[in-house]
Amino acid sequence: MLLCKKIKIEVSERDAATLEWMQGKCRGLYNWWVMGLRDGSKRWPGVNPAKKTLAESRDHDPELDGVYGKLLQEVFFRLDGAMAGFFRRVQEGSAPGFPRVKPRHRFFTLRYPGMYLKVQGNRLELPTGGRGRHKRFPNVIATLTETPPSHYGDVAVSRDDQGNYFCSFVYDDAQPLPQPRKRKKTRTKKAQAARREMGIAAFDLGIKQLATGYTDEGRFYRIGGFRGYRYYNKQLDKVRSRRDRCKKKSRRYLKLSKKYKHISEQKRRKQRDCHHKASHLMAYRVAESAVVIGDLSQRQMVIKKQEQENPKERRKRQIRNRLVYNDWGLYSFVQMLAYKCVRFGKDLHVIDEGDTTKMCHACKCKQDMPLWKRTYRCENCGLVMDRDENSAINIYQRFVAGLPPHTPAI
Ligand SMILES: [Zn+2]
Repeated sequence: MLLCKKIKIEVSERDAATLEWMQGKCRGLYNWWVMGLRDGSKRWPGVNPAKKTLAESRDHDPELDGVYGKLLQEVFFRLDGAMAGFFRRVQEGSAPGFPRVKPRHRFFTLRYPGMYLKVQGNRLELPTGGRGRHKRFPNVIATLTETPPSHYGDVAVSRDDQGNYFCSFVYDDAQPLPQPRKRKKTRTKKAQAARREMGIAAFDLGIKQLATGYTDEGRFYRIGGFRGYRYYNKQLDKVRSRRDRCKKKSRRYLKLSKKYKHISEQKRRKQRDCHHKASHLMAYRVAESAVVIGDLSQRQMVIKKQEQENPKERRKRQIRNRLVYNDWGLYSFVQMLAYKCVRFGKDLHVIDEGDTTKMCHACKCKQDMPLWKRTYRCENCGLVMDRDENSAINIYQRFVAGLPPHTPAI
């Protein structure tokens, strides 16, 4: 399956300026098309006819010759993708969302087809436009900080908020990554647990505990999530409130903005790392061959704004919604889980999870479970259990009940 490896690159100041210049030109072309399409002065003709208009664009702006031609062509593929998404949404009847103009402060990702790149050791050469004396900028020489995969397709160059540049290599994992020659510590990779072919593990995904699992053998798994929200949020709020008291674009304002970006990037990275580890655990280390989770689109965790709310309710709503929208990141977690399951050959099932937290798994009676109640106490049968575990058992039972009868493997 196709995977992507993102590697940090180091470039000289001059080469960084070249990359910035090229992305600016590519974005210009993209935005020019988007604006034309939006006000109706242009129609989207498809990739190949659009490519033919490139000559006209070059006449209009001769500086485009300084950009590597393949990068300009990639702009049309990107536009085509954006337009296709728009038409699909129109057809589905959901909010259409016309392709947007790319803002100037963001780096417009440059996509190189892999076959035009030269890699020697950790040295990567990224071509620029023109030839001979028409070459405006020399090719960009980037130093890779990690070993790239041996057979790669496209390579995308991007930049983060701190001004670090990255190359993302798309590769097929059927061909193994080359092992780096030297390594200070030899890390032993934990072996995959012995697979139980008919095994089922059902997971309840939550905020306090990222995932709680229950297996057909009656075992529980507990996977804790990222813990440092408060630590980061406190810093972020402080920096932002200080920044908002400064004059816009003043030196102090810019400094605090940079600081803010830095902290939020740290927080994001920590969280992503945590999600990777947790989903890897579920897809690779756990012995059961089928993983079941509840369908999250039905989950109502967000508190809606009331007509008349007192300050306490308001604060509660703000904290909760920040947790759900900003910090939980469940969508990306499920995405990671899905691809890792495919990669390690497991089945991922998503089932309707309505009322799984409210229902008692033993007697099926329901009661309200506000988020602060961590323990499920059944008034009917006297069951006392952790709420997440009860919910995991419910998901498991619901999945098993819905399964078609299987023929045992011989
Ligand atoms: Zn009960």
